[in-house]
Amino acid sequence: MPSPASRTNLDPMDSPATIDTATHQKALIGLGRDELEAEIAGLDEPAFRARQLWHWIYHRGARSFEEMTTLSKSFRAKLAGRYSLERPEATRDLLSTDGTRKWLMRFADGQEAETVLIPEGERGALCISAQVGCTLNCTFCHTGTQALVRNLTAGEIVGQIMLARDAVGEWPSPTHDRRITNIVLMGMGEPLFNYDNVAKAVKIALDGDGIAISRRRITLSTAGVVPMIERCGAELGVNLAISLHAVTDELRDVIVPLNRKYPIAALLAACRAYPGASSARRITFEYIMLDGVNDSDSDAKALVKLLEGLPAKVNLIPFNPWPGAIYECSPPARIDSFIKILQNAGLVAITRTPRGRDIMAACGQLKSDSVKQRRARRAPVV
Ligand code: SAH
Repeated sequence: MPSPASRTNLDPMDSPATIDTATHQKALIGLGRDELEAEIAGLDEPAFRARQLWHWIYHRGARSFEEMTTLSKSFRAKLAGRYSLERPEATRDLLSTDGTRKWLMRFADGQEAETVLIPEGERGALCISAQVGCTLNCTFCHTGTQALVRNLTAGEIVGQIMLARDAVGEWPSPTHDRRITNIVLMGMGEPLFNYDNVAKAVKIALDGDGIAISRRRITLSTAGVVPMIERCGAELGVNLAISLHAVTDELRDVIVPLNRKYPIAALLAACRAYPGASSARRITFEYIMLDGVNDSDSDAKALVKLLEGLPAKVNLIPFNPWPGAIYECSPPARIDSFIKILQNAGLVAITRTPRGRDIMAACGQLKSDSVKQRRARRAPVV
């Protein structure tokens, strides 16, 4: 099996082209403002048309060019002949008893990834995927067992937000009382291994004349791709979450194999330098509770020590089971004892309530079946 390090740099060709081979129409969703302007300039249309088009796509959520009534008929026809506003197709739409909703999204090439909406009182966090599958192979994560991996394009990442907005009827972009208030890049894949597409998608989501979600309401979760953390802070300025999960390199090397490349000390140094991190804007450290593996009182004490001086908040994530997993979730009393040690030491710490477990929508349970089926039809992978 290749080492995680050797599989980390995905060839950008892994992402499919954004031109539909059947219709030759180019996807507009996923183009940045400058790219959209260049397209419109190429059609010999004035620049303000690009701004109008942007507004129709991302503020109004238009699904067809016909409805763009502020554009001339001839311009609309020109657009319809060349471009598409296609979103991914939702091939499954599941609702949990706790209100969590999960969509299986199918992209133009037939690959699939999952998107989850987690309503919580006034808030609604949309958990989006950055890749089909994942190369990290964290031993506790279901997505890591999926064989096929490719980067999602910027359009496929933004498309997840567009489709969720379509589904809850959230167009034009509301200024208040939204159902989707937050975006978390915590779905399938490692967002910092697909940085360019993720960055493009985040910039589109941030744009005030469009989806308009502020950087304080966007959180990117990473297993610790150290060289990309600084860039993420400087260029995107979104909230950072780190999947820490262990307090020693010895254990982290095993359960988060990326640690062999970027060990804990290097990871925490990148966190210390993360632009914008402060006690008002803390870095979230995710820590999965695995029975008998990383959940002792001495682990908790070591965690306190590791995070000393960092503007940190700890999210304890009870392990979410999946078929074939080799771990069990720590018992509630163990989680309680662990969190008390953190809190008594002055750390901000909460236990993340598992959401959507009944529809396999909770952290680490995402996996697209279509890939699994396709894999099963292929020769066995050694
Ligand atoms: N690759 C990114 C984002 C994806 S996972 C990252 O590693 O951060 C989102 C979170 O769910 C991560 O903290 C991940 O470690 C955690 N997770 C994975 N499998 C889990 C499981 N079975 N139970 C609970 N949390 C899990």
